[in-house]
Amino acid sequence: MKNYPEFKEKFIERYSKLTNFKKFKEYSLKQQDKSIRVNTLKITTPKLKSKLNDFKLKKIPWCKEGFFISGSRTDLGNLSEHGLGYFYIQEASSMIPPLVLNPKDDLVLDMAAAPGSKTTQMAAMMKNSGVIIANDLDYKRIVSLNSNLQRCGVSNTVTTMMEGRFLKNYHFDKILLDAPCSGTGTIRKSPNTIVEWSQNIINRISGVQRQLIRTAFENLREGGSLVYSTCTLEPQENEGVINYLLDQYSDAKVEKINLKNLVYSNPILNFEGKDYDKSIKNCLRIWPQDNDTDGFFVAKIKKI
Ligand code: SAM
Repeated sequence: MKNYPEFKEKFIERYSKLTNFKKFKEYSLKQQDKSIRVNTLKITTPKLKSKLNDFKLKKIPWCKEGFFISGSRTDLGNLSEHGLGYFYIQEASSMIPPLVLNPKDDLVLDMAAAPGSKTTQMAAMMKNSGVIIANDLDYKRIVSLNSNLQRCGVSNTVTTMMEGRFLKNYHFDKILLDAPCSGTGTIRKSPNTIVEWSQNIINRISGVQRQLIRTAFENLREGGSLVYSTCTLEPQENEGVINYLLDQYSDAKVEKINLKNLVYSNPILNFEGKDYDKSIKNCLRIWPQDNDTDGFFVAKIKKI
């Protein structure tokens, strides 16, 4: 096990109330299995498997195109098959939000899209039909997004660089808001998260998340779907944000998510004395110990 920074007292106190802290800590500090998603815009799974025969691939149970990968080489990004866009290196739980949104021949907004793991996944699910507007705020990350779109042969996507909160007067069929967050589900990838964790940061980020989800909902057509996801396990950034949306909009409805072969835990319906709307039980709260992946939160909202 690597040398990790210590968890803060307040963090331990909070997470001990939310989950089995011992298990959470064990899985948050565990070596992460690498995973890839086959880019079906460029290659079939059997063909890619035959090219990667030096590697052991193990199916990710909830994503047909996803595989845990191990082998003597760990520099997957240097393989020619990667450069040719045959696969995308993507964490297994990060494949969930696009599967929940399930875009087809739709007008889709990916509101915080860079570097594009979920945009490229959606483009592949859409077989390059429909249109995706992939937006992000950060120039350097947009550069990576553009290069990933090109590498993966994506032709249905336009990228924009703007503050997501400024979007106005659109009527998207489907919106993915993979929001900026405090990242407590990804400690094994970014151990510094434990050092940086503070209530002030959570307050600030949840303020941005509330504004982004409001904007997303306002730019959704009637009957359209919005998927909100984060890689944090903070209730204020997850269930709290969904509860805020439900308070603001009577036409927002939390839908049940049906994804097979995935282990998930109960959402938090009461946090620090505040009860959240009961329909929030339909969201997915995924702890690192549930599937030995990063932690994730995913909510599906319909505009009725
Ligand atoms: N969806 C991406 C993927 O799967 O590759 C990861 C997105 S990451 C969790 C969150 C992104 O939100 C970052 O790229 C960040 O630059 C962007 N971001 C942060 N604040 C934003 C804002 N106010 N408007 C738009 N994008 C924002």
